Amino acid sequence: MTQSIFVEISTQFYVTLERKLSRFLWMGKRLRISLKSLYAEVRKGGLKVPNFRLYHLAQSLAQMARTNLEGRERLAWRELEDSLTSLKGTLGYICNKNSEEKHSNPIASHSRWIWKEAHRLYGVQPYLNRDSPLWYNPKIRNKKGSFYWKLWESKGIYSLGQIWGLDGVVSFVELAQAFELPNAEFLHHLQLKSSLADLAKSEGGMLPASPVVRLVKSLLGKRGNISRAYTSLLGCTNPILVNLRNKWSAELDKDVADEEWQEAVASPASAGLEIKAQLTQFKVVQRLFWTPSRLAAAGLRESPNCWKCTEEVGTMSYMMLKCPMITPFWDQIFDFLQHLLEVFPPPRLLHTGLGETVPDQHKRALVVAAYLAAKRMTLRHWRAESSPSFREWLMAMADVTSHERIIARLRGRPELFEETWSQTLGIVKH
Ligand SMILES: [Zn+2]
Repeated sequence: MTQSIFVEISTQFYVTLERKLSRFLWMGKRLRISLKSLYAEVRKGGLKVPNFRLYHLAQSLAQMARTNLEGRERLAWRELEDSLTSLKGTLGYICNKNSEEKHSNPIASHSRWIWKEAHRLYGVQPYLNRDSPLWYNPKIRNKKGSFYWKLWESKGIYSLGQIWGLDGVVSFVELAQAFELPNAEFLHHLQLKSSLADLAKSEGGMLPASPVVRLVKSLLGKRGNISRAYTSLLGCTNPILVNLRNKWSAELDKDVADEEWQEAVASPASAGLEIKAQLTQFKVVQRLFWTPSRLAAAGLRESPNCWKCTEEVGTMSYMMLKCPMITPFWDQIFDFLQHLLEVFPPPRLLHTGLGETVPDQHKRALVVAAYLAAKRMTLRHWRAESSPSFREWLMAMADVTSHERIIARLRGRPELFEETWSQTLGIVKH
């Protein structure tokens, strides 16, 4: 729907949409993770939940690429539009509020919103980069405000980058030579220099190019340009996972290395075909579970000790893998898999991936699924005094197995299922 209308959509619309989305995702419970994290790509620590606002921005940019910056497929109404405005450069029309405009134009104001919003996402000043238009630029003002010099524009000067060199505004001699400006324009040049004095003080050297212009240019004449724009914009909004990584380093009592961290963040994606398994690993990596130690730290519980054994501080790794009430459960699973598949590493909290330790990819997928099912069972008994049983785990595996079979079939690759699961299938069924 947003694709067909090139106008601004009220923020309230997206706020409502996001509220509904998170209510659906968390089934009415309190939101325990920012939507920003969920929007991110899976390998960047998100769940790739669609961000409608960003999608609308991507659509608008793709449309801008199609209608404005493409010479080849120039649309007829653009000619008409150009004749109505004295500013010829499309960017000038798009980005700056033209003081000659008599009526407010919803398409123009939407274009300005896109320009500003996209730059904000990239963390770049919209009006003071190399591609920013000079004329009516709100950040380039003389005593009367922002300005437009028709003569300069007619000589082909329209962007900040054209008049800006390594040491600020280029000299009048150079400009006059390059654009054939008459000598009388020297006074305008002085004005321009004083308008940009602040910028000259703060910015040493070259101005950055506009990432938005780069993006729009990269979309020209390409297929699937909306999703290209969306991916690029999404890249700017990746959640900052530094805090999370620090918490894990504290929990595991060692620095989590770059490689390990990347593997952990990407691990929900490698957790098999089934969404339930992916969510389990996502929640583990994002530390979305309340542990006794966290509850105690928040003043919600007196003792920080484990619910099951009450012997030691209940951190995530203790509760999940180390508590003496839980270790027999893991041992049974480990023995079972060992018997079936020979050698592979023991389960870890932060990972699903087994790296290259299990060369056979089907065996690897099976072990990953087995450990994830065990993690899920542990979480099911999270606050209980009892521990999950081996039988429960077997049932969960049978459940996963049937789901994986259906998904593999739906994707037209039943052999993927057979190769991975046929070995356990017989045993799990009983
Ligand atoms: Zn315990």
